[in-house]
Order: sequence, then structure tokens, then C-alpha cells
Amino acid sequence: MASSLSRSLLRRLARPHKAFYRSIASSAVDEKISAVGYHVNGGPSFMRGTVFWEPNKPLTVEEFHMPRPKSGEVLIRTKACGVCHSDLHVMKGELPFASPCVVGHEITGEVVDHGAHTDSGIIKRFPVGSHVVGAFIMPCGNCFFCVKGQEDLCEAFFAFNRAKGTLYDGETRLFLRSNGKPVYMYSMGGLAEYCVVPANALAVLPESLPYTESAILGCAVFTAYGALRHAAEMRAGDAVAVIGVGGVGSSCLQIARAFGASEVIAVDIQDDKLHNAKMLGATHTVNAMKEDAVDKIKEITGGMGVDVAIEALGKPLTFMQCTKAVRDGGKAVMIGLAATSAVAEIDITRLVRRQIKIIGSYGARARQDLPQIVKLAQSGIFNLKNTVSRKCKFEEANQAYEDLDHGKIVGRAVVEIM
Ligand SMILES: [Zn+2]
Ligand SMILES: [Zn+2]
Repeated sequence: MASSLSRSLLRRLARPHKAFYRSIASSAVDEKISAVGYHVNGGPSFMRGTVFWEPNKPLTVEEFHMPRPKSGEVLIRTKACGVCHSDLHVMKGELPFASPCVVGHEITGEVVDHGAHTDSGIIKRFPVGSHVVGAFIMPCGNCFFCVKGQEDLCEAFFAFNRAKGTLYDGETRLFLRSNGKPVYMYSMGGLAEYCVVPANALAVLPESLPYTESAILGCAVFTAYGALRHAAEMRAGDAVAVIGVGGVGSSCLQIARAFGASEVIAVDIQDDKLHNAKMLGATHTVNAMKEDAVDKIKEITGGMGVDVAIEALGKPLTFMQCTKAVRDGGKAVMIGLAATSAVAEIDITRLVRRQIKIIGSYGARARQDLPQIVKLAQSGIFNLKNTVSRKCKFEEANQAYEDLDHGKIVGRAVVEIM
């Protein structure tokens, strides 16, 4: 997979960039044609992006016309993009998504341009040259849920981005250089040299935080924060268990610790992940291959079960374990995505009599939560360095997803783009 990706990249790099600095001669014609000659502050008119074509086929690196932001949108020179399981679900055909598309939804980068007629407040907040981090849920800001402050349920995000692969005017910002064909965007289409992001999804990244490690703030940490802050409404002193301690799960451990958890129990089947969990502040680790996870969690909590259990794998078995690991009246929070056909079982009578709460949670609220998350990282309460376990080059993205699929990535892999 990796070698075919690098071959395709080499082919593309070898191609002469004749029209690279073509002038904006066609600007009088329509919007799409004028995009051909669009430059970013005198820079390139084209960029490279990683394209998913169809399930179980390797990603290829393709050239695109430079994407153009519209009103309220920001063009970002992508610096880093995290390698997340949700992309993998799309790449394996487990979660249906419009294709071809550019995957990658966990980014940091530098602001290079704003769409025409963008509000001056946005330009002031994210001036050209500022460092930013992007949340994978990009709230429209105006729908029923956004108005209520529940940006994690934004109607436009699900109706346009998740259902159609576009931004909120129903169009993508990505067009292939070779034939002008549209390519869809999974969130902002972050595995590319540039990406267009609605300003509502951005937060300023202080210069003290590195681009590469900070990429995980926009999905892994964002998801962990949303699960503990909003779904679990976690309180100091709560006992927390996290089932599955990869990228998102290990972020949950750290957020639970930051919120004052008394016990933080990490459950996984890989000793290297459990070892890493200990380094990130887990008070106990349980290898579910060697012992019964639920029994062990009960034992650690004096027979009670935890106040909050988080399931970060999206598997029917661990879903059930999660509901069994909580104390009476406790909260089982589900954050692991599964194939759309997956269903789980539940012990009905216990759920009813013992008032077990099963809560789904997806991401967090970009405008209120992302700045808080950045502060946790800036203060060092959240350790970014130990969560990112691998850094790779743009050309190695395919391999990174393959390794993620095979459980070979202990924490999170991040692709360094430019
Ligand atoms: Zn993600
Ligand atoms: Zn909305």
C-alpha cells in the first residue's frame, strides 16, 4: 500500500508544474474557472491532497486546484493531521461516505486567507499568519442545535458534511487539477496541503504549542473532553474506567485525571497500550485478555463499579462490558463508532431497576470547548507529547492507517504535512 502511494506521489512530483504560477487571466469568467488561477498571497495555485477512492483501495496523492474559502471560512495551510479510526471506518467501507473524498479531520495549520465578505470579527480573531487548530465537528452556528449551544449536534454538519461530503452551501471546495472533477471533504479534508474550514470550528493555537502534537486536540482530545464534560458531567472524586486506550481512550484518561477522578482504570488487550496508559495517569490497568474486565473493575472499586465508564472501541462486547462496569445509577458513555450494521445487547432489568444511564457522545462543542482544551494543553495538564506516539510524513499516510488497522499504533499517529 505504502509503495503504491509513494509511486503515485513520485509520478506526480515528476510532472512539470507548467501552470503553477499561471496568472489570474480567467478571473472574468465564472467562479469555478477563475479558481484555476487562484493564488494564495502570491503562492501556489495548486496543492496536493490524499484521496480515498473506494473501500479497501489505497489512498493516492493527487493535485488539486487551490481551494477557495467562501464567506465565514478560512483557508489554512495544513501543518499536521491526526490519523483517526473514523477515517479508517470510511476507508474500509464500514461508514458510508461520499467518494472520492479527502479524509483527515484532526488538523493544525496557519491561516493564509479568508473568504470574501467574511465578518471582520472572524478576521480579527484569526488573522493571516495565526496558528489554529480545527475541530472535526464544524458547527454552522445558526441551526436549532447550534443556537441552543449544542454544536455537537449541528444539523448542517450532519446534513451536508457527513451525509454529502460538502460544506454548508452543498458544495465541496476541492477540485482535481487534472480534470476539474469535484472531490468530497470528510470534515475539512485535512490530509492535504491546504484546507478550508468554517471559522466556527477553529481556535487559536498559542505559539508555545507545537503544530504536530496539537493536531490531536481537534478530534481525540475534543471527543474525550465532550464525553466527560457533557455526556458524563464528571465530578471531582468520580471513579472512571476507560475501555480501549488508543488515541481517544488515552485522551479520556488524561481528561478524567484533569477533572479530578479518584480512580482512573484503563482497560485494553494490549500491554503496550496499558503501559502507556500508566504513564498518562491511569491508576489501574486491566488486560481484558488475561482477566475479566468487569470483575476487575468491581474489585478495584470495592464491589461498586465506577461512576463513569467510557467505551472507545465501538464493539458489541465492550459496549456490554461498559454498561456492566458502572455502579448503580452510573453512566456508561459510548464514544466508539461502529459499522452502521452493529448492534449491542443490554440487560434490561438491571438497566431499569438499577437506573443505569447509557449515553452516546460524539465530539464536543467547538466554540465553547476547543479554547478550553487548548488551555489544558497549554498549561501542561494535558500531556500532548506522550499521547502522540508516532509522527510520519505526508507520503506515509497510507501506511499509518494500515498500522492503525492492525493495532500497531500505541497512542496516536500524526501526519506532518508542511
Ligand atoms: Zn477522529
Ligand atoms: Zn448548526
